[in-house]
Parts: sequence; C-alpha cells; structure tokens
Amino acid sequence: MRIWDISMSIHPGMSVYKNRDENRPVFAIARDHTGGSAYETRVTLNLHTGTHVDAPLHILEDGSTIEKMELDRLITRCRVLDLSGIEDRITRPDLESQPIGDNDFLILKTRNSRTDAFDYGFVYLDESGARYLRDRKIRGVGIDSLGIERDQPGHPTHRILMGAGIIILEGLRLAHVSAGEYTLIALPLKLEGLEASPVRAVLIQPPIA
Ligand SMILES: [Zn+2]
Repeated sequence: MRIWDISMSIHPGMSVYKNRDENRPVFAIARDHTGGSAYETRVTLNLHTGTHVDAPLHILEDGSTIEKMELDRLITRCRVLDLSGIEDRITRPDLESQPIGDNDFLILKTRNSRTDAFDYGFVYLDESGARYLRDRKIRGVGIDSLGIERDQPGHPTHRILMGAGIIILEGLRLAHVSAGEYTLIALPLKLEGLEASPVRAVLIQPPIA
C-alpha cells in the first residue's frame, strides 16, 4: 500500500484565503513543560483555512451540517484528473474530454498545486463545469485551491454542487500526485452544527473496490 498526503500543513504562517489576517490560525500555548507536567495548546482556526470539507450549510441557508455527513462518502474510491494546463478556470469543455464515470469522486489537480502562496487568480471550477459534473452524477469533487470558486456573486458553483448533494473538498495539495484511481480518505472532525471541518486528506493505492 502506498499513501500520498494531500493535506496542507496548518501553522500561523500558512497560506490563507486572500491573505486575510483573520483567517490565519492562532496557536496559544495554554501550558508547557516549564510550568507544569503537560503541554496544551488552544487553536483558533477558521474552518475554511487549510484542507477542509464544506457542509451544505456553508452556502445553503437550510443546509445540513458537518457531523451529519456520511463517512462512507469520504472513505471512497476516487479519480485524480490532471488539469494542470488550464490557466484560468475549469469549464464544461475542459471536463468533457476527461474520463469521468457515474458516481465518481473527482480530484481536480491544477496549476494551483505548483505554489504554496495564495494566488488571487487561482484556477477554479466555473458554473458550466459545475453543471456538467452535476449532470454526470458525480458524488464528490476536490480541488487544490482554498475555494472551489473565487468569489462569484451568489456562489453558483457551490449552489449547484451542494444542491445535488455533491461533496466539496478544498485546499488539497496535489503536485506530487499523478492522474489515476486511488482510495481517498478525508474525514471531518465531528463538530456539531457547523458548516465545515478541517480534514487530513490522503490518497492510497491500490484503490478500494
Ligand atoms: Zn470552504
């Protein structure tokens, strides 16, 4: 068995959405070995910082929350598509030429994985691409940017995917991964009533059945 870690490392200096200071993680040491016998840290973390899965509540007013997400949807066979040649956004024609099957969980590798710095012009999945994936009845989609769309008015990509029950995984790191079939494991924390969770995402080969 081979394992690829496709998660971002979480630390105060990491790359965050639009380089906003309020999105940076804060590590507060509550106790350490100089004053006691245990080391404890309190972490302040925006749930959309780093590698994470969005629950429908993130965009849909009555959407369901992260602890309700079925775990078998995040321990699953998946297919990595190499879309590194795309400069701006992933559209329907870009996806039509790709090998996509019913029930696929797709991982979209783009040029975003080439740098760790936040890129204001990051490659995203546009509305036409989201409609196409919905119509192809995929189960989930992951991408190597902190958002699956940039800041489109009304968040059409999120709405189309979430409205169809398609899982959205963001903030992946895929430079070291090739196109192909894998097992994906990306389990959210059991945070009650919330709209997202950090995940430790890994790809494994061989893929599970
Ligand atoms: Zn998010």
